[in-house]
Parts: sequence; C-alpha cells; structure tokens
Amino acid sequence: MTSKLTGTVALVTGASSGIGTATARQLAEQGASVALVARRKDRLDDLAAEITAAGGTALAVEADITDSAQAAAAVQQTVEHFGRLDILVNNAGLMLLGPVVGADPTEWERMIAVNVQGLLHTTHAALPHLLKAAEEGPRRVADIVNISSIAGREAWNGYGVYNLTKFGVNGFTESLRKEITQRHVRVGVLEPGGVATELASHNDHKPDIREATATFYEQTEVLQPEDIADGVAYMVTRPRHASIGELWIMPTDQA
Ligand code: NDP
Repeated sequence: MTSKLTGTVALVTGASSGIGTATARQLAEQGASVALVARRKDRLDDLAAEITAAGGTALAVEADITDSAQAAAAVQQTVEHFGRLDILVNNAGLMLLGPVVGADPTEWERMIAVNVQGLLHTTHAALPHLLKAAEEGPRRVADIVNISSIAGREAWNGYGVYNLTKFGVNGFTESLRKEITQRHVRVGVLEPGGVATELASHNDHKPDIREATATFYEQTEVLQPEDIADGVAYMVTRPRHASIGELWIMPTDQA
C-alpha cells in the first residue's frame, strides 16, 4: 500500500521516549523508513523491532547528539543505510527547572548542550542531504521539524534557561526557514504544552519542583505523545507548496 511518506527517510532524535517514540511510530505508519536516534540503545532496539513487526522499516542508531561527531555519524549511518534523508525531527530535549539565583550552572550547560547545540549539530549534518532530497527526492520537498515548547513562546519564573533554549530554537527555526524555504526544505517549529512523558522526571532530584509538576499533571488533562506525533505528521505531509512554519498544540485544559 502506498502512503503519503512512502519512499521517504526520516530521522527522529530522542526516539527512545515520549514524543520521539510516538513520532517515529507515526511516521513509520505513514510509510517513512525511520532512523531512531538517542543514547538508550536497548529502547531503540525494542522500538525498531516493534515498527518492523508492524510492517514498517526502522534503524536504531545510538548517539549522544551533544557530541558533534556522534550527531554527524548518526546522520551518516542513516544515509548509508537508507540511501537518503528527507525528514529531520529535532526532538531530543532536557528540562531542568529552578531559580537562576543559586543555580547549578552545570544544569544550564547540560540543557544548552542538548536543546541547542545538539539540535544544531544534527541540523548541520543533515542539511546537505535534505537539500539534495528536495531536488531529487520522491516528493521534491524535504522537512525539518524542531520540537520547541510553549516555553518558547512564554517565559515563567523558574524556567529561565529552559525558556532561553526554546526561545532560541524558535528564532533559529524561523531564520533557517527564510534561508532555505525557496530551495524547498520546509522548516517549522512545533510548540507543545504539557504532554505526558518522562520530561517531568528530569527534575526528580528537586522535591519542590517535582511536587509542583506532579500537581499540574494531576489537575490537568494533558496531551499524549501521539497528539504531538499527529502534529509532526501533519506538518510533513502537506503538499509541496504549503509549509507549516509554526504549530502550537496545547491541552484544552491548560490556560
Ligand atoms: P522525554 O524525557 O520522554 O524524552 C527526551 C528524549 O531526548 C529521550 O528520548 C532522550 O533519549 C533524548 N535525549 C536526551 N538527551 C539526549 C542526548 N544527549 N542525545 C540524544 N538524545 C537525547 O521527554 P519528551 O518526549 O517530553 O521531550 C521531547 C521534546 O519535547 C523535548 O525537546 C521537550 O523539550 C519537548 N517538550 C515536551 C513537553 C512535555 O510536556 N513533555 C512540552 C513541550 C515541549 P536518551 O536519554 O535515550 O538519550
């Protein structure tokens, strides 16, 4: 059966969990061959086996994208295995919250390394292949979807450096869109509100933040990772002449 993404190849970072796992499944269901990138290889292997058993095609690629050489190698391995790259979903992310006053700066560095530098490393390595796919690929268009956040639109007390990374992702995305959209590489940002994933557990070592986050998740009917995967699939299955620059998806319950 031919689906909208048949013949295409997608790379999803952070595919070992949450939004990345759901996005990889969804793109595979739509016919893309999917490279699954993250550090936890056991989880990637399980997901690749599940996608394959369902009739899809997937490749597990272990990489820490904060290391530019590993990010480049992940892209290279994908292209060597599948022969091309049409879609990049920059999803891997880290959210470490807390006041700026008295903060542990190594937490800032870790967040910037994943949310900003990791995204840049992967994008830089993927761009030549995406530009080629836009010229020669089955759809004559290629896609970059950057998973930002409501925290890329709105700043809150205690979110300082997470806000910094996500506002940065939004600015970079729009600049890159202007640079390459006329070469038919669509570049867009997807900004979720609260989604039920492991993201909140990144702060498990901080009891006050853990409690505040747990209260939010108890009192709000949050999104599921599949809701965001649907958004990514929507963005990358538009006709060639239509580009979604920004998609903001919120839980109806989140004001
Ligand atoms: P999860 O914690 O469930 O997933 C994070 C993913 O990032 C994991 O697969 C993890 O894989 C990967 N990752 C982290 N560090 C690295 C690294 N150095 N190299 C490669 N992969 C890495 O959270 P979500 O699914 O929620 O997060 C996905 C994105 O969605 C993030 O960018 C987040 O900021 C954003 N987002 C999430 C929201 C939410 O409420 N959940 C709301 C708004 C935005 P591994 O540890 O195996 O490397």
